[in-house]
Amino acid sequence: MTVSSTQTHAQCPLCKSFSTRVHSRYERTLQDVGLAHYRLTLQLQVRKFFCFNAVCARCIFTERLAEVAAPWARKTHRLVQRLQAIGLALGGAAGARLAHRLGVQVCDSTLLNQLKQLPLPAVKVPKVLGVDDFAFRRGRQYGTILVDLEHHQPIALLADRKAETFADWLRHHPGVEVVSRDRSKIYRSGVNQGAPNALQVADRFHLVQNLAETLDKVFSHYLTELKAIEHQHRPQTAAPEVVIVRAKPTATAQAQARFQATHQRRVEQQQQIKRLSEQGWIQVAIAQAVGVSEKTVQRYLKRPDFPAVLPHRKTFGRSILDPYKPQFREWWNSGIRQPHLLVSLLQQHGYGGSSRTVTRYISQLRSAQGLPSQVGHSPQSLVKVCDPQAPPLTARRASYLVVKRQEHRDHQEQALVEKLAAQHPDLATAVRLADGFLHLLRQRQGEAFEGWLLTALNSSLKPFQAFAQGLLDDFAAVQASMMTNISNGVVEGLNNRLKMLKRQMYGRAGLALLNKRFVLAS
Ligand SMILES: [Zn+2]
Repeated sequence: MTVSSTQTHAQCPLCKSFSTRVHSRYERTLQDVGLAHYRLTLQLQVRKFFCFNAVCARCIFTERLAEVAAPWARKTHRLVQRLQAIGLALGGAAGARLAHRLGVQVCDSTLLNQLKQLPLPAVKVPKVLGVDDFAFRRGRQYGTILVDLEHHQPIALLADRKAETFADWLRHHPGVEVVSRDRSKIYRSGVNQGAPNALQVADRFHLVQNLAETLDKVFSHYLTELKAIEHQHRPQTAAPEVVIVRAKPTATAQAQARFQATHQRRVEQQQQIKRLSEQGWIQVAIAQAVGVSEKTVQRYLKRPDFPAVLPHRKTFGRSILDPYKPQFREWWNSGIRQPHLLVSLLQQHGYGGSSRTVTRYISQLRSAQGLPSQVGHSPQSLVKVCDPQAPPLTARRASYLVVKRQEHRDHQEQALVEKLAAQHPDLATAVRLADGFLHLLRQRQGEAFEGWLLTALNSSLKPFQAFAQGLLDDFAAVQASMMTNISNGVVEGLNNRLKMLKRQMYGRAGLALLNKRFVLAS
């Protein structure tokens, strides 16, 4: 497209005086945002003007088109803005691929350069600051992540996790009133140096983690007791001829992630298709741009929007048959093994699922008994089948159960915790101390913290003495976490997003670029 500038006068960039006297004309080539499925290049006629200001060093200057493009740029502002938005959301490589799909030829390093030119907004000093570390390279290089906990906004990334660096930042950004942090000495000393008047709050999540580690240490000295509890707890199936029915490996986290990814792609494709269609694209062109068949384009245009986030499938790995399984196994063990008979028995008991589900379970039982999985005649005297066992009661599982909120334990887990306390006086002490600490933390009973500390320090359990000593050294911050509702949960969430950004940039991104995407893309 050939375009000419029509402004009657231009302003000298040096002395700011206006001029109407044209010196010469020349042409600029600007890449612009595409039109339908055409790429668009502007052949822009611009002029040079004389500057009449006698004291100005510049005699001749070119007219500026501030709304169109930067003085020496080869892309229009609106194109640059789009590329920056793509780069912020996707990073270099994926961004370049999408830009290509949208008709803009750009390489990933150009895209990253566009990002570098984006200005960072001035830091608005937060009142409540969350701080945590993140791994640049796992185990080798760490940085620090700062988050405004009131507005859930990322503030900045720091290049390392040294106390001095954090203290420096705090000194340059006065006004932080509360800092929520982990239990490490690094950030504690950073706040002490950089914002000594700020209230420090130890994050509750980390405190609970520390407690679980303490319990783990105690329990690992009482493994015989744990074994005994596990033994009492096991269902008494004394019959020697018992085969455990192992549940088939259910949908793994990986499979679920794959499922989510496919869905995500579908959502994005549909959005893109609908957007292009609204802009008047014909279906052939859409199919080409999106990279799907024309049939798919028609289908996606017709059907209602996919939900942006798939509702989490709570039934993953569970079966409609589950409630009937104990009864089912009884029938099976008593010799009723004909599928159609079993199905009709189940239906009499209210089963509403398909007979395929039943067949699948039958083949599971058969394979547990060492029979070929095909349904056929089977001998009457078979070993009996029963349920899989509960996981073994390790020190780690026991500490996990004690730390778990009571309302979240099922009645078996609750019984295990109670047996734990009944098995040995030391275990009882550990459970009591843990319960007491969790109560302070979860019910915000900071004023009772001192009493708890004394009990723990005077207990006979070495791990709890050490835990209590550590808490005593950090007394104010720990007590603050028992009195406020401030939590570092937001930081954890943003830290996960940061991991994704880092992966997208394939480790090529320096801190400056990562910081820009982290702060601007939210
Ligand atoms: Zn001038």
